[in-house]
Amino acid sequence: MTLTRRDITELLARHGLEPSRALGQNFLADPNTVRRIVRLANIDEHSNVVEIGPGVGSLTTELAATGANVVAVELDRHLLPVLAETVEPLGVRVVHGDALATDWAQVLPAEKQWHLVANLPYNVATTIVLDLLDDVPQIETMLVMVQREVGERLAAKAGDGAYGIPSVKLSLWATASLAARIPATVFIPQPRVESVMVRIERRSAPVVDVDHEALMDLVRTAFGQRRKMLRRSLAAKVTTEQFEAAGIDPSERPERLDVVQWGALTAAVLAGA
Ligand code: SAM
Repeated sequence: MTLTRRDITELLARHGLEPSRALGQNFLADPNTVRRIVRLANIDEHSNVVEIGPGVGSLTTELAATGANVVAVELDRHLLPVLAETVEPLGVRVVHGDALATDWAQVLPAEKQWHLVANLPYNVATTIVLDLLDDVPQIETMLVMVQREVGERLAAKAGDGAYGIPSVKLSLWATASLAARIPATVFIPQPRVESVMVRIERRSAPVVDVDHEALMDLVRTAFGQRRKMLRRSLAAKVTTEQFEAAGIDPSERPERLDVVQWGALTAAVLAGA
């Protein structure tokens, strides 16, 4: 059973609820879009799926219909009685909690491989994705709906206009690509921004073998002055010899360097070359 616009309006009214803007609540109200997302997710009865922010259960019901094992983490306690009605009878485990403060080792047993499929709360979407890549290795793939600009930043490659700090951080752990555009008309209420689906696949090992904090420190400093050449923005952190040892042209701008080059620069700095 996929929830229609009428079902969602009726559920919200019967439970005395209004979508909360503070919690980024824009509920999917179009069964065709929900089915399209679940097809893109490529899951079946053998899959373990985690959803963050199930809302009233629009996507969750269709995820459960594949036969997958589904765990859904929802922050808004007012939605719990709705989820008890819409998704718990389908075998979905609903966890009341904040995705930014969840003990994931408790919620997602590490011996299984997990797939995140979610229409994320837009204000915290980048943080959720990057934190899960850092801290929850049992999540192998993600198919997430985010605001279009956020999706473009996550999926950007070196040289793209949208390439920035989140793009480099994501590419340490994973590869990302845009999988679909979703029009604002399919939500209740309609968001003011456009949405995209981003597919993220974790690499079998981080792409560079250097201290990630040190790498991200250089990246943040350089992108803090994005228009400047690296020799200027990183003057306090990287010597001419270190640029040379890493094979990086100091007159480049930060958006030109891919994660492997950032790794080489970090290694040269840490080696004190
Ligand atoms: N998946 C539903 C859908 O597509 O209709 C709802 C998506 S809505 C964009 C985001 C959902 O995330 C809301 O249900 C909201 O209450 C929930 N949420 C917001 N912040 C959260 C957090 N920090 N942890 C878990 N859920 C959160």
